[in-house]
Amino acid sequence: MSGNRIVVLSGGIGGAKLALGLSAVLPDGELTVIANTGDDFEHLGLTVCPDLDTLLYTLSGLANPQTGWGRRDETWTFSAVLESLGGETWFQLGDGDLALHVERTRRLRGGESLTRITARFAECWGLATRLLPASDDPVRTMVQTDQGLLAFQDYFVARKCAPRVVSIRFEGAERARANPAALEALASPDTKAIIIAPSNPYLSVDPMLAIAELRDALGVAVAPVVAVTPIIGGAAVKGPTAKIMTELGIEVSPLSVARHYGGLIDGFVLDTADADLRDSIDVPALVTDTLMSSLQDKRSLAETVISFARSLRSPAHAASAAQ
Ligand code: GDP
Repeated sequence: MSGNRIVVLSGGIGGAKLALGLSAVLPDGELTVIANTGDDFEHLGLTVCPDLDTLLYTLSGLANPQTGWGRRDETWTFSAVLESLGGETWFQLGDGDLALHVERTRRLRGGESLTRITARFAECWGLATRLLPASDDPVRTMVQTDQGLLAFQDYFVARKCAPRVVSIRFEGAERARANPAALEALASPDTKAIIIAPSNPYLSVDPMLAIAELRDALGVAVAPVVAVTPIIGGAAVKGPTAKIMTELGIEVSPLSVARHYGGLIDGFVLDTADADLRDSIDVPALVTDTLMSSLQDKRSLAETVISFARSLRSPAHAASAAQ
């Protein structure tokens, strides 16, 4: 271990883009990704972990570049046959993707932890990045809406985020233990920066922060904590982040995201489109292009965020250095 580790907290699509950039610019083994498990659910008897899977596919070069989720060159025989039998097809499962869920479920039933299974899959697919579920205990995102209390995938996929969100809660989070390896990575003196990816703060990052041990570990981390905006010019790049913010009465602005993470972050990365907000952010803010379309965009944002984080000293770090 060379002591230049970077830890990133990530949801699915937005987080995986930055994780890919970070993995491309860091030496092998120096990136640890802590992944949201609040979207996980049981479907057709299988345990599906959408954010972990998006990260696994993205970091191993197997992701579908069109959708951002699922596998490239996927086939759909299973779904077609299931449909012909009148089965449940609202959640799309490609043939290759299905194999991942079957094997994960078999191992979980055999008593292996999600952490161990994820590490095994990452090893099989040659990932140079450590991929850690935020917890091995179930944390399930539940969305209170104008159409009632909905399980996350019912809200997100089946109802396409159409219901109006009233509140969001994370079942199991108060009992869940954080992944010990994640806590170790956050506290390690080898960790030089902790990055909150440009993921949905309310649906992807909050389920992790709802685990007290994980939130506390971020709060006392010696490494600087930097969040990257998922909001650019008053809109989300993809997904329901802006819609949810509006429904929750939160202004759709990177300022709101920075405030949401208030007390946990030592720095914030704003998009060039929002440069005028820089002085309104309570922590040091860096303005840069944050839209990650190409691999080069991902690499250059990764490099910029790492060097910004290195320029910061977290209050905890400053205190320990002063002793
Ligand atoms: P999900 O779990 O698949 O919904 O994915 P995430 O929560 O990780 O990512 C969704 C968020 O990523 C949305 O709020 C998007 O605005 C944000 N996002 C997606 N692509 C980009 C990008 O290229 N740049 C930035 N800054 N944000 C992005």
